[in-house]
Formats: sequence, C-alpha cells, structure tokens
Amino acid sequence: MSSVPVAVVTGSNKGIGFAIVRALCKQFPGDVYLTARDPGRGQEAVAKLQEEGLRALFHQLDIDDLQSIRALRDFLKEKYGGLNVLVNNAGIAFKVRDTTPFAIQAEVTLKTNFFGTRNVCTELLPLMKPYGKVVNVSSMVSSRALRDCSQELQKKFRSDTITEEELVELMTKFVEDTKKSVHEKEGWPNTAYGVSKIGVTVLSRIQARMLNEKRKGDHILLNACCPGWVRTDMAGPKATKSPDEGAETPVYLALLPSDADGPHGQFLSDKIVHTW
Ligand code: NAP
Repeated sequence: MSSVPVAVVTGSNKGIGFAIVRALCKQFPGDVYLTARDPGRGQEAVAKLQEEGLRALFHQLDIDDLQSIRALRDFLKEKYGGLNVLVNNAGIAFKVRDTTPFAIQAEVTLKTNFFGTRNVCTELLPLMKPYGKVVNVSSMVSSRALRDCSQELQKKFRSDTITEEELVELMTKFVEDTKKSVHEKEGWPNTAYGVSKIGVTVLSRIQARMLNEKRKGDHILLNACCPGWVRTDMAGPKATKSPDEGAETPVYLALLPSDADGPHGQFLSDKIVHTW
C-alpha cells in the first residue's frame, strides 16, 4: 500500500475541475487523480496536462453511477488505504434557453448535483484520512435560491439540526412538486440548479457537523464554496473569471494547512466565508 498522499477531483476532464487538478499538480505533495465519466475525455485531459509538464493520474468516475463510485472507493482503499483530499466538483446545468420541461430539468439536475455528490460523499468520506480536506463545489446561486424559498423552507435549510435524511426528503419533494407543478405553491424557487446547490451547501453543513460529532480528533476540514462566474462550457464565454481563477477558492480549501482549525462547515466565495 502506498503512503503517498492522494487527492481526487470529480468531473475534472474540463472546466473548473481541470483547473483544480492543474493547480493541485503544482502544489499538492502527492498523487492527484483527474477523474471523468468518459475515459477518453479523461485520458485526453491527462495528456494535455502532461504537455504542460504536469503529472496527473486518471481514474474513471461517473457520480451518477454507484458502481463507478464504489470502484473508485475500492481502488483508493487498496492502493492508498484512504484519501487525503476530495474535491466534489462535477455538476451540470441546463442552459437558460433549454426547452426541456422543468420537471425533467429538476430531476436530472438534482440527480447529479445533489444525489450524485451525496453518493460520492457517502462512499468516500469514511476513507478520509486525518487532516484530510473535503471541498464541495456549490454556487452563490444557492444563496440566491435560498432567499427565494418560503420562510418555512429557509428556516429548515438554515437549521443547525437538520439531518441528512431530512435534507434528502426535501430534495426529493422538490422534484416531486415540480412533476405536479406545485413547486412554487410549496415555497420553492423556480430554479432547479439553485435548489440542487442549496442541497450541496446544506449537505456540507450537515457533513461538517457529523465530522465534529464523530471524528473530532481527525481534524478533517469540510467546506462548500462558489468558484465565481467562470468561463467554462457551463457558464459561457462572457463570465468574468478564467478557469484557473475559478479554481483558486476550491484549491485554497483543499490545501488548508494541517494546523488550521477552520474554515469548517462554511460556504466561501473568493476565499471569504459568507453567512448562510
Ligand atoms: P463544465 O465545464 O460543464 O464541467 C463540468 C464537469 O463535470 C465536466 O467534466 C463534466 O463531464 C463533469 N460531470 C458532469 N456530470 C458528471 C457525472 N455524472 N459524473 C462525473 N462527472 C460529471 O462546468 P464548470 O463550470 O467547470 O463547473 C464545475 C462546477 O462548478 C460545477 O459543480 C458547477 O455547478 C460549479 N459552478 C460553476 C460556475 C461557473 O460560472 N462556471 C459557477 C458556480 C458554480 P463531461 O465532460 O463528461 O460532461
């Protein structure tokens, strides 16, 4: 078994994830795994970094596929005996002009951004080594969507006692409410992406609390963040930040020094903690 530290970035064949891998290859003292659902796209991305003189390793990972997540889990367990850095970056967003019915957009978006990310966490968080770092890439859109929720929903999402099961129930209810076209009446905002990222931010707050309760002595730091508005296939060419600039806050959180006792359980943008 290798004692080399290991970092994994989900959805990193392009965009912000790719830039996070590039930065980690330069700064992380260990093996860095670029992962992609499509091995061809993943290997191409690794080769691109190689041309820059950087060495990333590749492992397949489709966060929508539990078998794929478990294969990565078993690989990490066997080869490294755990994991030091996990960046949950993979995500999707329908374009504004997309005419896919809202209920389908809600189901598909939540499936990857919330349920997929949660499944990765369920399988990989138990592998996190002491002083490990977990970064969940959310979005400022989650804060905006939270403000557009009913007072009752806002209270639940800001609660310091909400459980993961309760959060899953709420995310499932959102998808069901969109199918019945009652989501606005039920207090939800009209954004599937926004609700999926509320899920990611609240999940991060819950997971950080669980780490405090169950693994306090392990000093693992877990946070959610927004990369900013970044020029990628998702956000388009008018966005203000380059992918490398978008990677800065996630990488800062992934490389917090071992004597740091925070941030933990926070939502950050531009390396600044924001009130949820
Ligand atoms: P992007 O260029 O579209 O890249 C998304 C990445 O996620 C791609 O590598 C994609 O792989 C991967 N992915 C999607 N579904 C996946 C799945 N089921 N399993 C594994 N990988 C999957 O988007 P981006 O702008 O870099 O976004 C990265 C993260 O930042 C997302 O979580 C996004 O919500 C968040 N974010 C972005 C912005 C922005 O302005 N760009 C702002 C706030 C937050 P494929 O190539 O196979 O599709």
